[in-house]
Amino acid sequence: MKILVINAGSSSMKYQLIDMTDESVIAKGNCERIGVDGHFKHKTGDGREYETDVVMNNHTEAFVQIKNALLDENYGVIKNLSEVSAIGHRIVQGGSLFSESTIVTEDVIKGIESLIPLAPLHNAAHVQGIRACLEVFGKDVPEVVVFDTAFHSTMPQKAFMYPVPYEYYEKYAVRRYGFHGTSHRYVSQRCADLMGKDIKDLKIITCHLGNGSSITAIDGGKVVDTSMGLTPLDGIMMGTRTGALDPSVVTFIAEKEHFSPTDMDTVLNKKSGLLGISGVSSDDRDVTAAAESGNERAQLAIDILEYEILKYIGSYTAVLGGVDAIVFTAGIGENQYTHRENVCKKLAFAGVKVDEEVNKKSIRGVEGRISAPDSKVDVFVIPTNEELVIARDTMKLVQGD
Ligand code: ADP
Repeated sequence: MKILVINAGSSSMKYQLIDMTDESVIAKGNCERIGVDGHFKHKTGDGREYETDVVMNNHTEAFVQIKNALLDENYGVIKNLSEVSAIGHRIVQGGSLFSESTIVTEDVIKGIESLIPLAPLHNAAHVQGIRACLEVFGKDVPEVVVFDTAFHSTMPQKAFMYPVPYEYYEKYAVRRYGFHGTSHRYVSQRCADLMGKDIKDLKIITCHLGNGSSITAIDGGKVVDTSMGLTPLDGIMMGTRTGALDPSVVTFIAEKEHFSPTDMDTVLNKKSGLLGISGVSSDDRDVTAAAESGNERAQLAIDILEYEILKYIGSYTAVLGGVDAIVFTAGIGENQYTHRENVCKKLAFAGVKVDEEVNKKSIRGVEGRISAPDSKVDVFVIPTNEELVIARDTMKLVQGD
């Protein structure tokens, strides 16, 4: 069974075609600059690749590019579109409506649409993606939606409520939802597998550290708290996002600078974080390199990031009443080993001990335990694979499992 996984953004659409017999990626690519001018990239599992500038006015035109690439004489991987058994879509916001993956129906599309106010850019783009897919692949190919928020739906109310007047929860569904759920789900289950234990018996803290970052506390396979909130702005400092801060900082700066809510949204989401503090870059590699060559603000940005990761792990250890394993994943978590080392050193009081040599070598897709044999807490680096989770959920649902 071959499953097409789609991650539709407002101006981009990433895809992977996965062969479920061995879970290998047989083709992947990205439609970039949809509605602007258009750039298309395609790569096959056996190393054939091409990229081209091609106008894509909307998501339907982007899907036509994907279809043509998959069937292409030179770069194709299938002979007939009917070889694609099902399509799985990543959806950012499932709100309180969707606590698990589901098969797409008109009602499901309407549900995702109704959540657009909570995730204006993302959910609107996802709906465009689903509809475009229906147009190009036809109604006979089943589609499934997998939500970033779903894994977090087990959080207790005391963890997901914000202490603002209750009426805003009732009127506007203002609460913590959490994101990256598919990634936290994948790495926590993989962690249990690597430990050879049932996830039901484990307390795990998963650190998804990328351009966007979130940390999650998982007790017995169920999320009890997560750092992202109503939107992906909450939690730890990120590439260009602030993470959590005193809300008065927002009103204070807005008043001083005569900024509108939209202006402030740009400051908090696009100009802050590693970029805002360092003034160098939003990319951790650039900031780390600048810090190493003596840039003090870059060093400060790194110090803040490591301090915040440490604070979340500390508080979630208390929330869980102890921790069996800590997992690092995503671009920074999988590669920037100095952050892992610095954070884990500070956790020595909790019995965390990292093997520095193993940690250094655990980069660029390496999966495994980085804690020393005598560490009381297991620490892992686990490359995330959200597309595989989407493909697995899609297969299960279309097989009626
Ligand atoms: P996104 O949240 O956009 O999916 P990623 O998970 O790709 O982001 O993470 C991007 C971050 O990870 C950047 O700050 C970058 O510096 C870091 N990163 C990505 N790849 C590497 C790598 N090979 N080595 C070091 N850092 C990396």
